Amino acid sequence: MKEKIIKIIDNLNDNGKINKKEILLLLTNLCDSENTKLSKIEIESLQEYLREKAYIKSHKIFGNKVYMRGLIEFSNYCKNDCIYCGIRKSNKNAQRYRLSKDDILECCDEGYKLGFRTFVLQSGEDMFFTKKRIVDITSSIKNKYPDCALTLSIGEKNYDYYKAIKESGVNRFLLRHETSTEEHYNKLHPKELLLKKRLECLKIIKELGFQTGTGIMVGSPFQTINNITNDLIFIKKLKPEMIGIGPFLPHEDTPFKDKDKGSINTTLILISILRLLFPFALIPSTTALGTISKNGRERGILAGANVVMPNLSPLSVRKKYSLYNDKICTDEEAMEGLELLRAKMLAIGYEITGERGDHIKHIFKQ
Ligand code: SF4
Repeated sequence: MKEKIIKIIDNLNDNGKINKKEILLLLTNLCDSENTKLSKIEIESLQEYLREKAYIKSHKIFGNKVYMRGLIEFSNYCKNDCIYCGIRKSNKNAQRYRLSKDDILECCDEGYKLGFRTFVLQSGEDMFFTKKRIVDITSSIKNKYPDCALTLSIGEKNYDYYKAIKESGVNRFLLRHETSTEEHYNKLHPKELLLKKRLECLKIIKELGFQTGTGIMVGSPFQTINNITNDLIFIKKLKPEMIGIGPFLPHEDTPFKDKDKGSINTTLILISILRLLFPFALIPSTTALGTISKNGRERGILAGANVVMPNLSPLSVRKKYSLYNDKICTDEEAMEGLELLRAKMLAIGYEITGERGDHIKHIFKQ
């Protein structure tokens, strides 16, 4: 079996090829200790074999650069009630806030001075931000900082909304599908949220020419190895430019408060597989990884990730954007936080860069 797994990893590394059966075999043997016949030592050596291939692949393309994105969490109001989410509408303990356009621009000003050339605006699905309001904000940012890339992560919208923000200059859009198995999706979301709608949104985003990001929570309640296999197949077909995956972390004010955390190991294995599948993809080493383990973000980079997203939101609101428990939302000012992250990356031989870091397919389209 060990030889078979090595062959699968080699073929993925050399030719970017892997089929559904092979993904299932790989995941079962590397991530599911109950259903593999391999010994612990064999599993660990295969995990390391995969990690090293992904590390080398990432290094060949991006060198020792890690792109930084300035994250601005501008509203934690949300009309939805996703079961796992700390800012779901029925969480009465969430302290709601909304940043004004001036607040957001101030965050960009500070970020720009610190060298950020990508801003990521993230929020719940806040109905206050109509198409007109959001376009006003995004065009102001693009007018003020034409050399910066702008990413939005604001959930499901209709075609006209996505089109308007694209025309306002927004370059990238993140919409994690979370799981591509309908039965599983329905266990994580209230009945009015449909997987079909989520996938349609992703299709529109891609067709409109956004650099598109999707991804999953690893170890979300009820998730199986089959589900993750389906997710990899889905991602393979979608060909996103950005792929964000992080471990599931429970939030105390949600029905999933007593569920187990996702596994850091499985998350790292998936990052490595995704790096080999998509050598040029922008893959963040997520805040959730940094939350689950002190050196989680470094391990993410060493497993093939190439992006970090320091927080540029004002200190007064950072703790309120609480998607899960113990989220690392440091008490440092943006500059201090960035310096700490820079030091952590330097310690593993990486350098944080302020370059825009567009996906290679989009570099010449700007
Ligand atoms: S996951 Fe997103 S859409 Fe769902 S409740 Fe949380 S913020 Fe809202």
